[in-house]
Amino acid sequence: DGLTKHYPVNGGLFSKSQQKVYALDKVNLTLYKREIVGVVGESGCGKSTLAKVLLRLIEPTEGTIHFDGREITGLDRKQMRDVRREMQFIFQDPFSSLNPRKKVIDLISEPLDIYRIGTRKERENRVYELLDIVGLTKNHADRYPHQFSGGQRQRIGIARALALNPKLVICDEPVSALDVSVQAQILNLLQDLQEQFGLSYLFIAHGLDAVRHISNRIAVMYLGKLVEVGDSEEVFTRPRHPYTKALISAIPEINPEHAAAPIKLTGEIPSPINPPSGCRFHTRCPFAVERCKSEMPELKVAEDGHAVACHLVE
Ligand code: SF4
Ligand code: MG
Repeated sequence: DGLTKHYPVNGGLFSKSQQKVYALDKVNLTLYKREIVGVVGESGCGKSTLAKVLLRLIEPTEGTIHFDGREITGLDRKQMRDVRREMQFIFQDPFSSLNPRKKVIDLISEPLDIYRIGTRKERENRVYELLDIVGLTKNHADRYPHQFSGGQRQRIGIARALALNPKLVICDEPVSALDVSVQAQILNLLQDLQEQFGLSYLFIAHGLDAVRHISNRIAVMYLGKLVEVGDSEEVFTRPRHPYTKALISAIPEINPEHAAAPIKLTGEIPSPINPPSGCRFHTRCPFAVERCKSEMPELKVAEDGHAVACHLVE
């Protein structure tokens, strides 16, 4: 609720400039139980910051986070420890997120060790069970991460994330470092696990196509702000924000209705340091009018629950 993260840059003792990175700006988002929400946007739009703020790996400048009915902003380390059991993280890069000196059995068992769950034998059995759940076998337990392919390593990362039976898993681009041929396998696995264990996912991705089939809803971010949130199919077939329309136009095989009049994005995403005034998308928006340069559009929820931040849509 109102999640904001600003970092000062270049300020310091000798500078009067007030440069700030607006990594996250007044983000309101609800994730329901057993729901998968895909969060998409270009690099630097704030999606990884959102993930880290939600897990309280970094503190928000403003705003609150509620998890399972409890406000977790402001909880101390010890209280947060209990909450963290239920909120896990799958990283983008299975190559760097697993300690290369540890065997698979120890990597997957680590969360169980930290929380001192069960006896040694019970933890070992739980690891075997988890290996099976993610499509690996007992024989893999004594090997090291470098002995696995990228897809297998991500399976190890997933097993580790599930060790404590979490309710929420935040997946930060879990397939984007993998070969295209392996991506679908991992997405299918994540989807099966979600159903099997009634998990909720916040599923972060660079492109819309990656989240289309897995997400119930999609949240589109641009320069630290949510610009559109809606039902996944609805966002794909009837996108309302010009930025979402442009992202969809960029997917070659998408429905011909949009392909007929593609919206081409020109230029790079501007820097989140002192981002554009008014609507942050106005420097690239083909529909921008004068008002867009000065007035920031609010994210407004329509009657059907679909939310958009654009003066034009209003
Ligand atoms: Fe484009 Fe203006 Fe809408 Fe922003 S508010 S997306 S600049 S039309
Ligand atoms: Mg990122």
